[in-house]
Amino acid sequence: HWSRICARLKAEVGEVEYNTWLRQMGVGTVEEDEITLYLPTRFLRDWVRGQYGDRLGALWHAEIPAIRRVELQVARGPSPAGDGEAVIAESVPASATATPAVEVAAAEAEPRAAEVRSDLAAPLDPRFTFETFVVGKPNEFAYACARRVAERPSSPGFNPLFLYGGVGLGKTHLMHAIGSELVREGRVSVAYMSAEKFMYRFIAAIRSQSTMEFKEQLRSVDVLMIDDLQFLIGKDNTQEEFFHTFNALVDAGRQIVVSADKSPSDLSGLEDRLRTRLGCGMVADIHATTFELRISILEAKATASGVDVPAKVLEFLAHKITSNVRELEGALNRLIAHANLFGRPVTLEATQDVLHDILKANNRRVTIEEIQRKVAEHWNIRLTDMSSARRSTVVARPRQVAMYLSKQLTSRSLPEIGRKFGNRDHTTVIYAVRRVMELMEQDPAFAEDVELLRRMLES
Ligand code: ADP
Ligand code: MG
Repeated sequence: HWSRICARLKAEVGEVEYNTWLRQMGVGTVEEDEITLYLPTRFLRDWVRGQYGDRLGALWHAEIPAIRRVELQVARGPSPAGDGEAVIAESVPASATATPAVEVAAAEAEPRAAEVRSDLAAPLDPRFTFETFVVGKPNEFAYACARRVAERPSSPGFNPLFLYGGVGLGKTHLMHAIGSELVREGRVSVAYMSAEKFMYRFIAAIRSQSTMEFKEQLRSVDVLMIDDLQFLIGKDNTQEEFFHTFNALVDAGRQIVVSADKSPSDLSGLEDRLRTRLGCGMVADIHATTFELRISILEAKATASGVDVPAKVLEFLAHKITSNVRELEGALNRLIAHANLFGRPVTLEATQDVLHDILKANNRRVTIEEIQRKVAEHWNIRLTDMSSARRSTVVARPRQVAMYLSKQLTSRSLPEIGRKFGNRDHTTVIYAVRRVMELMEQDPAFAEDVELLRRMLES
């Protein structure tokens, strides 16, 4: 029975997942209506129960109809000296009802001194300090909060510190600045890592059966910073682990700093209790940059580079590149590199030349409505047919072209584009883009039409 069940599971979940979570599972004896399975660690047991409990129950029931319960036990195999055999029993009913997570009090290894911290955290970028962070209206609150935490970690009201904002607006920069400041003071131990890294560390720890060490390492720091927490959406087990770490640290009076692309209340997909706790301290958002802030940032970076960049050029960049600081910085760096390489002064003309691709990308001001209008005119169909349900080629083809051009010429996402075309699904947009590209390859006249439309819309 067991080997058949294992084969079934392996086929269902795939080799990799099977080897990661299920390979180490052992089988005990069948007793009347119950079968006992063994896993080497409590964590693995919980994970298997959560992810595969129902399936295991069903598979066993199918093999031996008499079986009504699958019992998952932790058996830590032949244990090292001193560490007594710990067997923790918990049952999973073979029916589909979910078992609530039960806290099991088990004798756990004594906490070890945390000397391995450095290997846990990512290094801090020395360029990201408070000194190099340019403060303006959109970020002054977040900046002040970050400074405050760096000065006095774990102050009431500032724990956790939750920083949020769009891409490239300085969240990571501020977190590194907090870290560097604290490390420079030499007072506390700091661990910084992305949520992604947190997850991979966690999974690696499970694989190597060292979750205990992982937890101890994490729980021994004074300040824990997790960047881009939105990554944990949908990663329920990692979220759970983070939640426990979070609680343990805050309860022990340690500081937590977290960043995400949205506020705690907008991070749907994170567990409610985690969102609640994340919002309990200080929540600070970084707004989109203003023209003034962009100018200040450019001035600061130009000065630091030692290259003379005329005010006209800085203004031009601040006007043209509005999406985020990372892009702005990238554009300026390219100009500076160019100036250094060719030993030519930076001029407005040279700027337009050197950055023409970046500028073009940022020039895309054309709206989906304009595209729809132009395309409908071109093929002589009604504008309403852009969103109608009609599927005849006469209207469907221009509609696909309009979707294609919307993807090419605007920065709208696929779902947003779909919505503007009579609430169509994003997969329809993907299909349209592909179809138009195919047709352009096959039919030069059609390709010319599309190119013409594109040029009209771009100018
Ligand atoms: P996020 O983490 O919010 O996506 P980052 O912190 O990585 O953004 O910032 C992107 C880039 O822009 C980094 O190089 C950072 O140094 C720079 N940057 C962002 N905001 C500022 C600012 N206010 N002053 C100086 N540099 C900034
Ligand atoms: Mg970041």
